[in-house]
Amino acid sequence: MSIFTKIITGEIPSYKVAEDDNFIAFLDINPNAKGHTLVVPKKEENKIFDLSKEDYSALMDFSFRVAKALEKSVICKRIGMSVIGLEVPHVHVHLVPTNIMTDMQFTHKVKLTKDEFVGLAESISSNFE
Ligand code: 5GP
Repeated sequence: MSIFTKIITGEIPSYKVAEDDNFIAFLDINPNAKGHTLVVPKKEENKIFDLSKEDYSALMDFSFRVAKALEKSVICKRIGMSVIGLEVPHVHVHLVPTNIMTDMQFTHKVKLTKDEFVGLAESISSNFE
């Protein structure tokens, strides 16, 4: 069972920003930038291009909605999107509010307080449609 499945089942906590029957989005615990969010299919699959076309499209649709909420919640130039999965082998889309190129480098990290995580999650979820 992946660490993200444990988040989905509530076994470990997360700062959740959006959820439906098939997907969940929560803040990355070690963010590149404020608002860095992960969008995860609840069905555990390792690699994104092993998803069916239908599941892939549904993941992109859900990510689109989360990105719109991020744009309304975090001041940034644009939302960067990336898929890697080398650390957690459970499909996830990184959505990163980006101002400079280094915001998309996964060695570039920011430290946030618990209050900042809570505030960001509340703001993003309130803007999620
Ligand atoms: P990747 O697998 O795409 O290389 O990166 C996995 C991402 O998941 C990393 O950005 C890392 O900070 C994040 N991550 C790893 N474990 C947890 C966790 O327990 N909770 C949250 N919210 N994020 C995590």
